[in-house]
Amino acid sequence: MKRELISLIVPCYNEEEMIPLYITEIEKIMINMPEVDYEYVFVNDGSKDQTLKVLKEQALLNSHVRYLSFSRNFGKEAGLYAGLKHAKGDYVVVMDVDLQDPPELLPEMYRLIKTEAFDCIGTRRSTRKGEPPIRSYFARQFYRLINRISDTEIVDGARDYRMMTRQMVNAILEISEYNRFSKGIFSWVGFETKYLEFENKERVAGETSWSFWSLFKYSIDGIVAFSEAPLDIASIVGFLSFAAAVVLAIFFAIRTLIFGNPTSGWTSLITIILGLGGMQLLSLGILGKYVGKVFLEAKRRPIYILKETDEDLRNHETTK
Ligand code: UDP
Ligand code: MG
Repeated sequence: MKRELISLIVPCYNEEEMIPLYITEIEKIMINMPEVDYEYVFVNDGSKDQTLKVLKEQALLNSHVRYLSFSRNFGKEAGLYAGLKHAKGDYVVVMDVDLQDPPELLPEMYRLIKTEAFDCIGTRRSTRKGEPPIRSYFARQFYRLINRISDTEIVDGARDYRMMTRQMVNAILEISEYNRFSKGIFSWVGFETKYLEFENKERVAGETSWSFWSLFKYSIDGIVAFSEAPLDIASIVGFLSFAAAVVLAIFFAIRTLIFGNPTSGWTSLITIILGLGGMQLLSLGILGKYVGKVFLEAKRRPIYILKETDEDLRNHETTK
């Protein structure tokens, strides 16, 4: 009988140090899972260091290693999409190269997905140990907010690290939107997911490519992609301030009729002007965010552009 194939999709951005360490760790696990075959699908996301060179070396050493290399940095989400598209496995795993996603969970994931009829085994961090407290705080607030305003459930602490069936992967590939927020997409497609918990781990080498600001922008993208609530809020605030204006107009009219004196008070006027002006700009900004996303989607640009893959390398080797 043909052995089932597991594809490991690993997006890499400036990870020259991590790749050999990562492969060593995975090999230790896979040696104990002789019942399955596996392939690595590394995605070099336009790294500025020697990542591509390291991938080429590894591909020549190890026949399990496949890689895709982008023409520039397209972001981790694009890397995941490319990996999913090129993975050949019956089961597909998405994981980071920095070993923050513990490879020890792989046998358990495989066992659960095989025997308990889950479509996806996800993982979540039970703690955010080792992360700056301020970052954890904002992360938690983000999950609270997005779950309140979006119909798609986004599990707090859930990582992208997961094993999925071929069926679920095909469903994800159907979603070809440009603004990709994977945490939302994984949940939007549905299917039965079980979460395994593990303790947060520090990166083994290299450094995180996320700054506080980039995380902030990422969370705004997530909200725009999976919720229309900000648009409703803008309308509601607009309606409320209009209602307040009507009430105030009536109040001032009556007061002037009864007491005769015109309203003194420059302060109240300027406050109202500033308040309304601010609200209008904010609403325009919110609207603009969505229009901008529509613009990007409408252009239908490809999500990523490949420059080369391991096939180029292997063909080159055989024709030499
Ligand atoms: N990554 C990527 N493209 C990017 C940024 C990151 O492919 O533009 C990869 C990175 O190499 C790593 C994974 O995404 O494998 C997660 O990145 P990182 O460890 O920096 O994020 P964190 O774990 O801090 O959330
Ligand atoms: Mg990391």
